[in-house]
Amino acid sequence: MTFPAGTILGYPRIGRQRELKRAVESHWAGKTDADALEATVASLREATRARLAELGLGRADSSIPESFSFYDQVLDAAVTLGALPTRFSHLRREDGTFGLDALFTAARGDGDRAPLEMTKWFDTNYHYLVPEIDENTVFSLSSTRFADQVAEARADGFVTRPVIVGPVTFLALAKASDEAAEGFSPLSRLADVLGVYVELLAALKDAGAEWVQLDEPALVSESLPYSPAELAEATRVAYDVLANAADRPQILVAAGYAQLSPEAWSVLAASGVDGIAIDLRRGSVPAAVPGLDNKVLVGGVIDGRNIWRGDLAGAFDTLEELRALGTAQVAAGTTTSLQHVPHDVADETQLHPRLVSWLAFADQKVAQIVTLAAGLVDGREAIVGELDAATAALADRAVAPGVRVDAVRARTAALHTDDFVRGNEEERVAAQDAALALPVLPTTTIGSFPQTGEIRKARAAHARGEIDDAAYDEFLKAEISRVIDLQHDLDIDVLVHGEAERNDMVQYFAELLDGFAVTQNGWVQSYGSRATRPSLLWGDVSRPAPMTVRWAEYAQSLSEKHVKGMLTGPVTILAWSFVRDDQPLAETANQAGLALRDEIADLENAGIAIIQVDEPALRELLPLKTADQAAYLDWSVGSFRLATAGVADATQIHTHLCYSEFAVVIDAITALDADVTSIEAARSRGEVIDDIRDAGFPHGVGPGVWDIHSPRVPSVDEQESILQRAADALPHKLIWANPDCGLKTRGYDETVESLRNLVAATKNVREKI
Ligand code: GLN
Ligand code: ZN
Repeated sequence: MTFPAGTILGYPRIGRQRELKRAVESHWAGKTDADALEATVASLREATRARLAELGLGRADSSIPESFSFYDQVLDAAVTLGALPTRFSHLRREDGTFGLDALFTAARGDGDRAPLEMTKWFDTNYHYLVPEIDENTVFSLSSTRFADQVAEARADGFVTRPVIVGPVTFLALAKASDEAAEGFSPLSRLADVLGVYVELLAALKDAGAEWVQLDEPALVSESLPYSPAELAEATRVAYDVLANAADRPQILVAAGYAQLSPEAWSVLAASGVDGIAIDLRRGSVPAAVPGLDNKVLVGGVIDGRNIWRGDLAGAFDTLEELRALGTAQVAAGTTTSLQHVPHDVADETQLHPRLVSWLAFADQKVAQIVTLAAGLVDGREAIVGELDAATAALADRAVAPGVRVDAVRARTAALHTDDFVRGNEEERVAAQDAALALPVLPTTTIGSFPQTGEIRKARAAHARGEIDDAAYDEFLKAEISRVIDLQHDLDIDVLVHGEAERNDMVQYFAELLDGFAVTQNGWVQSYGSRATRPSLLWGDVSRPAPMTVRWAEYAQSLSEKHVKGMLTGPVTILAWSFVRDDQPLAETANQAGLALRDEIADLENAGIAIIQVDEPALRELLPLKTADQAAYLDWSVGSFRLATAGVADATQIHTHLCYSEFAVVIDAITALDADVTSIEAARSRGEVIDDIRDAGFPHGVGPGVWDIHSPRVPSVDEQESILQRAADALPHKLIWANPDCGLKTRGYDETVESLRNLVAATKNVREKI
């Protein structure tokens, strides 16, 4: 059994029209039963296989991945291994398996049973569910789902390749459960999960799988709690067992997202696995090592993480280079699953045709793989037309108007180190104290207020032209004025306008800046049933006109208190868009930084005294390789400073970070040099405050006292205890009282109650200190 000449490591699961979202959400709402849901997703899988075959992947050669997931691939592995935390044990069925109800309950929680924690998948904006493992976790094959899907495909006339998170990555991404002993390491349970993988392999073979893909992206990361050497050793142990399993399909180990560590590369080459898939966009051609002669090498030359058509001829050259390694076969592949890109450029009718010709969404990437595979089989001549067409598109992209704008380039070229530096901090503090007259422990919120159905309806009606600009303006003004009144009632100190005019914190700006395009159907799964529509950052970024000033000015006109100006920072704008790949990110970030700098100057001139620049993605983009991190932090922090350093001493700059992993990027957060930083803290009841204290964080800081991720209303006591913890640990002058994050996903009932408690808690602590 050979391997096909080309394959993709995975395909979007959500459906071209987000069918999966609709199907699971209707099931959660109790409108459809499990059977109806299963039937819908089976037809979705059928359509996916048919589409991939239509695009040119083979029906019966294992080139079509079976990569469907109801919610998340790590959760699927946890369910299959029987490794759900004991709080979900009651959902195990009589025959010992976990069904759909267990899967969804683990993902979403149920009353007091907290869901699995969610966290970012490597350096992407996709979130996986974190398995909880301890000494007593019992691993046993607890779902037939993977094998069933192989059989389903077989019945449909397809031999597909099931895609499953591999044992090393599964454990490396898991966390120790609350019941685990201090210092317990999930990877120590490797031997115990392997038995279940062996059983699973046999079941897959039995169902008709000829190849299985085990995803092991942990082997590229230097940002996990295990060293590359530890991970490589675990890989050696794991694949020794799996390769020697008596009854198994051929095994492809896939390690995308960056360069496979040299240690793991040697181990895998020497192992008995049948194929290795590597990332050649974020990694380079590895060294020849012993053991490759009986392996298939899938060269990840088509980027699974961006939407550019790219340099197809260069991709083919790279595949030819791989042949020098002496593997049994070289195949064309994507760097990662295509789950990180939208389905199909053909679904975009509003994009400029010239831009369209530079793009490749999932379906176009499949076609590129089919082309490269044909080239590997029939020689370069056979595909030279396609290679040349891609090269021509790339050349066209380089010279198209808007891609390089002289005025923008002149500005970034003229930047001077002074442009990145604010005034002396002591003088700033004094100027702000005098100008702002804030109480100790000022209360504020992170920016957005609930995005009600009414707001969404008005926005949609405006987009469809059913209400005109003037009517929409009036609607938004009424909304802002309502939110300001509410904050007055609640006696909050520093107000916000509520962000009712924003569909999304990045897209709103992408629509107003030059250099961006937005899609109609370019949905990408963010987590579970949630998808986002990243903007396309294709050209030089500049700001044709002010973007937020009108709303900020209006909001400020309604209050004697300060209303914060509210912007999304350059790093987050880049992180949550598909960014041009023809120049360093640093250059693009500085362009965005300058556009924001102009906006901030306009806000300042309009009398806005406090301006918040959100950077929730600062941590997310941190490279997986330690050697790349310093350069990243340099440009990312630099672009934020470029945006914010132009203000007067008396203008207070805030920033907001969504996560609580303060310690990991503490130096960077400090270097942002924002006067005030708000950060998530409530879920851990303020644990991050210790890190802030230990770091001697010199700036103002607002550890969140209300976990806004659920509708639960935190009591006065609860919020007070976090605030008191901050007051005990940090200089009082530095502390702010605020929720963990924006309130856009919350309802008004819980918002009003929670904020009332927040203000009461703050007043209590003020009296005590
Ligand atoms: N200002 C934004 C809001 O409140 C911040 C959102 C975020 O951090 N993701 O919605
Ligand atoms: Zn946030």
